[in-house]
Amino acid sequence: MFNKILIANRGEIAVRIIRCCKELGIGSVAVYSEADRDAMHARLADEAVCIGPAPGAQSYLNIAAIMSAAELTDVQAIHPGYGFLAENAEFADIVMESGYAWIGPTPDSMRTMGDKVTAKHKMREAGVPLVPGSEGAVRDVEEARHIAREAGFPVIIKAAAGGGGRGMQVVHSEAALPGAFNKCQAEAAAAFGDDTVFIEKFLETPRHIEVQVLGDKHGNIVHLFERECSMQRNNQKVLEEAPSPFVDEETREKLCAAGVAAARAVNYEGAGTIEFLMNPDKSFYFIEMNTRIQVEHPVTEWITGVDLVEWQIRVAAGEKLAFTQEQIKKKGHAIECRINAEHPFSFRPSPGRIELYHAPGGRSVRVDSHIYTGYEVPSHYDSMIGKIITHARTREKCIRRMQRAIEELAIIGITTNRELHERLLANAAFQRGDFDIHFLERWLKQMNL
Ligand code: ADP
Repeated sequence: MFNKILIANRGEIAVRIIRCCKELGIGSVAVYSEADRDAMHARLADEAVCIGPAPGAQSYLNIAAIMSAAELTDVQAIHPGYGFLAENAEFADIVMESGYAWIGPTPDSMRTMGDKVTAKHKMREAGVPLVPGSEGAVRDVEEARHIAREAGFPVIIKAAAGGGGRGMQVVHSEAALPGAFNKCQAEAAAAFGDDTVFIEKFLETPRHIEVQVLGDKHGNIVHLFERECSMQRNNQKVLEEAPSPFVDEETREKLCAAGVAAARAVNYEGAGTIEFLMNPDKSFYFIEMNTRIQVEHPVTEWITGVDLVEWQIRVAAGEKLAFTQEQIKKKGHAIECRINAEHPFSFRPSPGRIELYHAPGGRSVRVDSHIYTGYEVPSHYDSMIGKIITHARTREKCIRRMQRAIEELAIIGITTNRELHERLLANAAFQRGDFDIHFLERWLKQMNL
């Protein structure tokens, strides 16, 4: 096992990983930007190294600075968290070439899954169901028109290198196709330096359901059931739960088997997530794989009892998974609410000083956050300031527990999205489990706040 790990990240995920290191008896090194001098991760880690000015490009994305910090502190491994460099295969290469262990999958599987066109080819080979559309890259408007006619409108044009909800265009009619195609190509070239695009049928009312997988370096791969992530705005998840209230046992078995097949196709090592869209008739299609730990991993941890960050570290150190698929059981229901420093309905960011913070507590409530009273939320990074996770025997009880946890939460000084959660948790359709990926945006429009 490692003696010391460097965490190349900030915020709640850096805190989450540091906490895990402490529990495993592993030393931890935080890196921080000038804007994060007083950040919780820098305080909690055994050692902390400043890696540059506030902007991410000069600090948390600054590979040279991170590598010097690793050398200076003599760590054996690097954990990238999520976001920043987590899915950057070149960074993973550099880490390993410099003699450190990379706490994540092989750069090869990151590359294959990082390119959506290559990923879809692999998935087709592995027999994983795909959204109907182009076989691979679509070169010009003529080809796009042909494929769109075959699939039927609406269609969605996506950048092969896209991510984070960027680089997608929904097209409702043939007339709009040429404009959207050219726009998507141009945006892909500008944002990702790669203008490869492809086409999928745009599913009108799907749910976003994803499967958590875990693999080791000895060829063992297991799934840890699914997460329901349909509550989204601008392709950003707001609330997640496990298991999905929509998935029955028969579908679950097929879905999770597809997740394992997808991971096996790239000899996956570590924690990863296979994202699917599921139609009202419960047919489901692969959309992409995230080759990292995800924000919403705690809901899976709670229903399965498996510490995913611990297993990321153990697997990177060469350990075999200590459990078989049959031994992983799910128990009860878990929900996560993402708490963001932003206005609850306009979503305008609200950085600033937290004058008072009181976290919820009590039975079966988990809070993963880096904030504290007196903390200044910087304006340079993501607006997420923490996550509240609750667990209960049933979904109904879990919702009630989350409602009382949100009620207990007090954050004074900045505006948070807490009221959005309050209203959402009280919504009858949400409580029935009756929603798709467009539900939240539709509902926000109706409320007209
Ligand atoms: P990213 O890598 O940017 O997250 P994804 O391919 O995962 O892109 O898609 C993000 C979101 O866009 C999905 O969660 C879903 O809400 C929507 N989406 C993607 N593909 C389709 C599709 N074929 N039909 C309908 N919605 C889609």
